[in-house]
Amino acid sequence: MKPFVPKLVYFEPEALSYPLGKELYEKFTQMGIKIRETTSHNQVRGIPGETELARYRNAKSTLVVGVRRTLKFDSSKPSAEYAIPLATGCMGHCHYCYLQTTLGSKPYIRVYVNLDDIFAQAQKYINERAPEITRFEAACTSDIVGIDHLTHSLKKAIEFIGATDYGRLRFVTKYEHVDHLLDARHNGKTRFRFSINSRYVINHFEPGTSSFDGRLVAARKVAGAGYKLGFVVAPIYRHEGWERGYFELFQELARQLEGMDLSDLTFELIQHRFTKPAKRVIEQRYPKTRLDLDETKRKYKWGRYGIGKYVYRDEEAKELEDTMRRYIEQFFPGAYVQYFT
Ligand code: SF4
Repeated sequence: MKPFVPKLVYFEPEALSYPLGKELYEKFTQMGIKIRETTSHNQVRGIPGETELARYRNAKSTLVVGVRRTLKFDSSKPSAEYAIPLATGCMGHCHYCYLQTTLGSKPYIRVYVNLDDIFAQAQKYINERAPEITRFEAACTSDIVGIDHLTHSLKKAIEFIGATDYGRLRFVTKYEHVDHLLDARHNGKTRFRFSINSRYVINHFEPGTSSFDGRLVAARKVAGAGYKLGFVVAPIYRHEGWERGYFELFQELARQLEGMDLSDLTFELIQHRFTKPAKRVIEQRYPKTRLDLDETKRKYKWGRYGIGKYVYRDEEAKELEDTMRRYIEQFFPGAYVQYFT
């Protein structure tokens, strides 16, 4: 697929006093993209569209270039100490994406140009914990790889972390546009993960993201560039023929990665889940989705802030977990499964 190009770009005036802000302004002007001004990246007004749905779709192809003012990093991550804020929002249209509820009425894509401030803050966190390792997750609120061909912020973050002693970086993507990241000086301190799934799930529920084959080819390139590689299989979904579909996924993955050094390969396994508020949003935004959101077939799991989620019933979840672990054992015997959730 072609890399993402925004249809409309907003700039905060202050962003233009940073080198990346200027560079992006020139780039988008040359590309002939419509540019507007916004006083704040948190309150963008005037995204076109007659209906809410049309505005939502247009927002997903709108880029906002701003200055990150809140420098405190979010720290409630299970697999990293901190979330490093490089961008917020995503152009993908995955029906089940959790950003739909977490970003609410602001689905446009924000990128931040004050990278030096962000890296200085990261360095502070590293220093506080040294000599303990500090891990940063760069894809908590966006699919950063999918946007990075425009900004190269992730590339700079990889090189920044690569130069630290005690920092580590991780992120996950559904996009194949990795070429500019292959020569980044990562020094083995970044784990590059791909979100993968059966062809059925990708084809039915992940419009606007890279194909199954596109992601596998990109994974091979990333492994070839010496990055630590990981796969997040998510959401694991019980569609008709799922056993065959996931078998094919691991088989293809093994074929695509043949000959690569996979001595430090990780898998994360996440079963499909949804909350009641998420279901309402999905039904409004993707009314024709085939995603099965029938609460009566699921188990209710209490969650934080009183919003529980619907996961598969124990026996079905167990079957999913056992099957995935079996396939991984068969095709990637040395790999480490970090968790199933
Ligand atoms: S690629 Fe990831 S962040 Fe983007 S819409 Fe899909 S699930 Fe959400």
